[in-house]
Amino acid sequence: MDPEKKNIKSLSKKELEEYLRELGEPKYRRKQIFTWLFQKMAYDFNEFTDLPKALRQRLASDFYIGRLEVKHRAVSSDGTVKFLLKLEDGLEVETVLIPDGKRRTVCVSSQVGCALGCTFCATGTLGFKRNLATWEIVEQVLIARRYLRDIGEERDVTNVVFMGMGEPLLNLDAVLQAIHILNHDRGPNIGARKITVSTLGILEGIYRLADSPIQFKLALSLHSAIQEKREKIMPLAKRVSLKDLKKAIAYFYLKKRRWVTLEYIHLPGYNDTEEDIQALVAFIGTLPVKINVIPYNPYPGGPFRSPTPEEFEDFIRRLRRLPWTVTPRKPRGRDIFGACGQLFLHVNRAEPVKGVQTR
Ligand code: SAH
Ligand code: SF4
Repeated sequence: MDPEKKNIKSLSKKELEEYLRELGEPKYRRKQIFTWLFQKMAYDFNEFTDLPKALRQRLASDFYIGRLEVKHRAVSSDGTVKFLLKLEDGLEVETVLIPDGKRRTVCVSSQVGCALGCTFCATGTLGFKRNLATWEIVEQVLIARRYLRDIGEERDVTNVVFMGMGEPLLNLDAVLQAIHILNHDRGPNIGARKITVSTLGILEGIYRLADSPIQFKLALSLHSAIQEKREKIMPLAKRVSLKDLKKAIAYFYLKKRRWVTLEYIHLPGYNDTEEDIQALVAFIGTLPVKINVIPYNPYPGGPFRSPTPEEFEDFIRRLRRLPWTVTPRKPRGRDIFGACGQLFLHVNRAEPVKGVQTR
């Protein structure tokens, strides 16, 4: 990276158009450049073979092509790959690639750390450092795509979930712009229905998403439908009531006509009693939702334990008596710390982990 030059990936559409106009280049050059950067994943202007040589040289003298450094990569025995990525300012985020049947899902981070401090989440213990820029979000998907290509995988990334570090709705402009690029047919071309934004429940953000023209899926991290219990594990819940959340979800459905997924981490003994299930029934009411149940993934020093397979099965069985679709999320990449923020803690606090293949 040359400090004198600008990262071409950080330019907005308008800025790049303006730059090319000043050079007297035709408009379609911007589309060609966009394709090289985000679809073909080129990192050298010499590769932009459909551009005139003089323009390539000019681009190379004015810009560099931003990329994130893979500081650490851990491959789980179930095929899940976790990347710890170094940003240009030295901060780090993580990205997870989850192969499952024909799907290749990338779990991306939207912020470095998170300000919301949920007690069950490793990212929450890090505090908030900064928002990620659009290109830094998109780049995480490109790193996963390049990895698949490098290991000779025929399949490209099919799905993207904003379930890594951070609260995407507190970085909404960059997240919406990143979705636009990821979805673009000259970019990674990931279907809008295959992109899911997960939120802890930022009301203004949910309303903005509902009103935005971009299509994608929304997931709400509910984890408990009892107000006091939510407040104990998610400080944000003190400011956002279940009642207001319900209204926001209903509005989202009204505008988008898309079912919202409720995410529910199973914290055995805390949110899995009959009373908890009844509260969930009351919360959902007539909302069109699906329920995704996630076994708690412990992290060193975390306050909860994960459910035993029997406890988890029993909870799923009890939830399946309800009239909504309930899907258990398979624990993935457990041997490399599969959840939010956890590889970061492992690498940076040098906790010894058995059986982890790192390269
Ligand atoms: N901030 C957003 C998105 C990132 S967290 C949100 O909270 O929704 C993505 C998902 O990972 C959330 O559903 C979150 O609850 C879950 N998660 C965090 N820590 C976890 C853990 N220790 N075990 C299992 N799931 C976890
Ligand atoms: Fe932030 Fe989501 Fe983790 Fe809560 S669960 S601390 S909102 S990343």
